[in-house]
Amino acid sequence: MKTMQSDVIVVAAGPAGLAAAITAGENDLKAIVFEKANTTGGAANMGMGPLGIGTKIQKREFKDLTLEEAYDIHMKYTHYRVDGELVETYFEKSADTIEWLQDMGVEFAGAFKYFTESAATWHIVKPENGVIGPRAAGPMVRIMTEKAKELGAEIYLETPVKSLIMEDGKCVGVRAVDKNGEEIEARAKAVIVATGGFGNNAKMLKEEFGLDLWENFFPFHVPGTNGEGLNMMWEAGAAKYGANIEMIYQLKDNLDHFMLDACLRQPALLVNQRGKRFLDEGQMGNTTFTGNAINLQPGKCAYCIMDRNLIKYYAKHGPDIFDIVHPEECFYAFEDGVKHAKETGYDGYFEADTIEELAEQMGIDPDTLAETLEEYNEMCEANLDHQFHKKPAYLRPITGRKGGFVAGKFYIAAYGTIGGVRTNKKGEVLDADLNPIPGLYSAGSDCNTIYGDSYNFTLPGNTMGFAINSGRMAGEAVADYVNE
Ligand SMILES: Cc1cc2nc3c(=O)[nH]c(=O)nc-3n(C[C@H](O)[C@H](O)[C@H](O)COP(=O)(O)OP(=O)(O)OC[C@H]3O[C@@H](n4cnc5c(N)ncnc54)[C@H](O)[C@@H]3O)c2cc1C
Repeated sequence: MKTMQSDVIVVAAGPAGLAAAITAGENDLKAIVFEKANTTGGAANMGMGPLGIGTKIQKREFKDLTLEEAYDIHMKYTHYRVDGELVETYFEKSADTIEWLQDMGVEFAGAFKYFTESAATWHIVKPENGVIGPRAAGPMVRIMTEKAKELGAEIYLETPVKSLIMEDGKCVGVRAVDKNGEEIEARAKAVIVATGGFGNNAKMLKEEFGLDLWENFFPFHVPGTNGEGLNMMWEAGAAKYGANIEMIYQLKDNLDHFMLDACLRQPALLVNQRGKRFLDEGQMGNTTFTGNAINLQPGKCAYCIMDRNLIKYYAKHGPDIFDIVHPEECFYAFEDGVKHAKETGYDGYFEADTIEELAEQMGIDPDTLAETLEEYNEMCEANLDHQFHKKPAYLRPITGRKGGFVAGKFYIAAYGTIGGVRTNKKGEVLDADLNPIPGLYSAGSDCNTIYGDSYNFTLPGNTMGFAINSGRMAGEAVADYVNE
């Protein structure tokens, strides 16, 4: 067995762990980082960028949002059911963190909204290929990794941590296994756990939320997030607290069927498995709200029905709902998406000349769906949605006359899980009596308990933002603890 010693051990090298390791280095602490994967960055490799509030970038772009406004939006959104001090500390730090990243060499494309009703808090990393979209944050991960190493952090890849070492109620190290299978006992004055939640652990998802992974729940596949850090912290005495999923909605295998996913999430006709509408489709830009509504439907799924005429309209005039992740250019590639779906035998896309035929394919009662469509088209004619009050501008009749009907089957999904342990503004992990467990800290999604019941997409960039800022917060607190 190998033995190691350092000031602080960071469990995992996602954005939270990297931020913690850099902060430790800035405070002259020696950090050892154990990462299970063969690369650093975790889920941030797939993402676009973190939240910032009151940044110079926002001010320069005339998109500024004050700390007071953001705090008010967030606390009202969560009905004050979250730790206000933790939220305030994170939000307050977020502008400085954007500059901190810039000082390291991270460049940002700007500050963006996710959808119209959101604020421009999303600081998207300047993408290497010039195209703003998924994976833009890759360069940030590389720069953070280099910075951590430059400041003395030793990063061990393919080295999963297996347990925490507790002595006299204090966390004093970890046991890990290196890539050759050799056991490691590493000791330190403090440990920061940041393993990103349990979005990939089917058993825990079932136990905690009753969800069946890849059956009625189709999240992004983020390998490695299996809840290991949470289990270790619970075992060490941390209270179980606030686990949730970052609920969204998407097509099954959405990354392989991205064009269809992008085009079919417009405010057309969204029905459940019983062929009935259940929300104002104008909310479809807010993937959390729509995910929540789909979650309540039979089978936790919904079908967005359009026709080719509407797809062509969107291709020519732009969609009703703009968002950056699913750019309007996707409409030009709709037929390519259809071709790919047919070639791969994809079961998340449907098309037919008549609504009854479409209903048969989707397993919906044809008469009910035909009735729903007729009623919907009458509301479009009248320019009044008396059922769910959708904006009149979105009320576009769907007739299937020019090219037939098209539909996508949307499921609830997630970027991952959030929460599981409770931390204070210093990142100290709390026990059931809300007392810190000495030497044990957490950052990132493992301890992200600031959204209440639903992810706050109105302030986008929020989870990567929380990950990086809470990593810094924990790193700073560990420096104080070690120097005490
Ligand atoms: C497709 C996609 C796009 C996204 N886009 C955005 C975005 O633009 N903005 C935003 O705010 N958020 C975004 N997110 C969410 C964001 O990426 C995450 O919230 C963030 O990465 C969480 O950081 P973390 O460090 O807590 O955990 P993660 O990034 O999940 O990293 C956890 C790390 O822990 C490692 N690990 C697990 N167990 C162990 C163990 N036992 N020992 C050692 N290592 C272990 C894993 O290998 C992994 O590297 C996106 C997520 C996805 C999936």
